[in-house]
Amino acid sequence: MTPGGRAVSRVTETEVRPGQGPGHRVRVVIKPGDWEQTDPFLALMEDWFTPGTFGPHPHRGFETVTYILEGELRHRDNHGGEGVLEAGDAQLMTAGRGIVHEEEPISTEVHSLQLWLNLPSSLKMTEPRYQDLRSASMPLRLEDGADVRVFSGHSGDAAASTLNHVPFTMLDLKLGQGANIPQDSSPRETVFIYVIDGALVLGSNAVRVDAGHVAWFDADSGESPGVTITAAADTHAVYFGARPLREPVVASGPFVMNTAEEIRQAFADFRSGKF
Ligand code: MN
Repeated sequence: MTPGGRAVSRVTETEVRPGQGPGHRVRVVIKPGDWEQTDPFLALMEDWFTPGTFGPHPHRGFETVTYILEGELRHRDNHGGEGVLEAGDAQLMTAGRGIVHEEEPISTEVHSLQLWLNLPSSLKMTEPRYQDLRSASMPLRLEDGADVRVFSGHSGDAAASTLNHVPFTMLDLKLGQGANIPQDSSPRETVFIYVIDGALVLGSNAVRVDAGHVAWFDADSGESPGVTITAAADTHAVYFGARPLREPVVASGPFVMNTAEEIRQAFADFRSGKF
């Protein structure tokens, strides 16, 4: 990694709002629609929700990464995927050509993050797939004052064996105040960090990023660009990185495709039971 690595290019502020129904609050961490800036990430939602909020519904054309921060969540889908996730666990679901699933809290409330990760046109109609990524099974990089749990990709010498269609890095960062770690990234990767609790000082331009804020890093064409992460307080944050797909995005409700015709087809296929 070059000294200093990437700079922070922008920081966005987020807020918690009412969601769908009385038992749901949501923080839009990544707002869908800025496709070129966030590619291949489509959206990131932080949800607080009670049973009955996310009953059976379909998806096509992308993957979801769900990360449980508090509570217990049962996932079920119509391709046999099923699992109970506890705080600290994640799951990676490939909707591909079509899936119907439900996400039901077992606890009174679940507090979770859900990332929508786009698939390239060549994989939008791939077979659906489901992977539990249990915290205890995922590799842990331990540095002075820093616990880095690797859910996909790698950090230092810790590498996850998670199956990827679109290679991406997902790290849970728990840092004590003053801890400092470098993180590698591949050239041209889109990289962001969301601070859940605490505060970080990030990048070669040493930008302070407080809880509830998202930091995006400069695209860097250097050979091995990385980011430097320093904790200004005891901090919990998540890191995501992936190469952009650079394809047209047409999204409607639970479907994300390349063209309007493919969206029409997705609704038709869902209505006629082809999921
Ligand atoms: Mn869903």
